[in-house]
Amino acid sequence: MEAVMNNVTIEKAKTSKIKDVDFDNLSFGSIYTDHMLVCDYKNGQWQAPKVVPYQPITLDPSSKIFHYGQSIFEGMKAYKDESGSVWLFRPLENFKRLNKSAKRMAMPELPESYFMDGLTTLLHVDSDWIPQNAGSSLYIRPFMFASGNGFHASPADEYKFIICCAPSGSYFSGKVKVLIEKQYSRAANGGVGFAKTGGNYAGQFYPTRLAAEKGYQQVIWTDDNNHEFIEEAGAMNVFVRINDTLLTAPTNDRILDGITRKSILDIAEDEGIKTEIRKVSVKEVVDAAKNGSLKEMFGAGTAAVVSPISAFGYEGVDYDLPELKDSYASLLKKRITDIQYNRAEDKFGWRH
Ligand code: PMP
Repeated sequence: MEAVMNNVTIEKAKTSKIKDVDFDNLSFGSIYTDHMLVCDYKNGQWQAPKVVPYQPITLDPSSKIFHYGQSIFEGMKAYKDESGSVWLFRPLENFKRLNKSAKRMAMPELPESYFMDGLTTLLHVDSDWIPQNAGSSLYIRPFMFASGNGFHASPADEYKFIICCAPSGSYFSGKVKVLIEKQYSRAANGGVGFAKTGGNYAGQFYPTRLAAEKGYQQVIWTDDNNHEFIEEAGAMNVFVRINDTLLTAPTNDRILDGITRKSILDIAEDEGIKTEIRKVSVKEVVDAAKNGSLKEMFGAGTAAVVSPISAFGYEGVDYDLPELKDSYASLLKKRITDIQYNRAEDKFGWRH
C-alpha cells in the first residue's frame, strides 16, 4: 500500500527485520533499516523521491560508477532523546557538502527539498530503528552515483540518489593509535580531497592496511608536497593541543570540511579555550611531544564523534600522549553530544 508524506511516496516493507536486531550490542554501520529513500536523475532532471523497502539495486555492467567512479556520499546521524523525540545535527551542512561534492565530480546537484523531505520522511517511516541507548544513534548514509552507462570516459547522464540508515554503536572500540604518514598522500592540490567521493577512501585503504600491520588504527595524512604539515585522518579531522592551545589545520581543497570540526571550534571558543586554525607542522608536534607540551590529540567526525588519540608513530618512533583527567576532548565531546541528544540548551541553533 502506498502513502504520501512531504510529497514523498512511501511503499512499506511487508515484514520488518527489527525483531532480529540486538540494540544493546550494535556495531557500526552493518545492519540496515527496513526502508531506503531512492531518487533517480534522468532526462536532465531529478524525479520525485520515494521511500521503498531496503533492497538490492540492479545496474548495467556498463554503468559509469563501475568504470569512472562518479560516486559521492555523506555521513550523518539521527539521535533519539529521553522522551523519544528525534533530532538531526546541522543537516543542511550535509546537504550543502553533498552538492559541493556533486559539482566537483560533474554530477547533478540535488534540490534541498528532495534531500530534507526525503530524509525526514524516511526517518518517520523507520523511527523505531533509531536507538535510544547511550552512545548509539542511527547512522545515515546519503549517497549518489552514476547509474547511466557507456564506456566513453565522460559524465553519466543518469544518476541515483539513495539514503540508507544503520542503527549504530561507536566507531572505534578503544583508544586510537595513529601513524603520521611520510610516504603516501590522500589528496593533492587542485584534486578532489575536499569532496566526499569514494575514491578518496579507496586510495586510503592500502596505506591504512600497512599502518594497521604495524599496530596503528588510523593514518594521519600530511600535505602531498613535503609531508610536512598535518592534515586529517581517515574519516576525521584532527586536533592537537599544545599547552592550552587547541590547533587544527585550515580547510583547503585537500581536506574535508568537517561539520564536527567546525562545531568543535565554536564550542571550544564558547568554553574560552584558545583555538588556532593554522598549519600544524609534524615537527612542531614531535617537538611538543618531546618537551612535554603536547597534551592531547584527537580526531573529530560524525562517526567517530571526538576520539582521543593515545599515541602517534612517526619515523619509526612512537610517542605516547598523557592521560589527562580534564581533557579538552572529554569536555568537547560532552558538550557536542549533549546538544545532539537534546540534553542541553542548543545555543548555536544546530538541532533540527
Ligand atoms: N574527514 C574525512 C575524510 C571524513 O570522511 C570525515 C567524515 N565525514 C570527516 C573528516 C569529518 O567530517 P564530519 O564531521 O562532517 O563528519
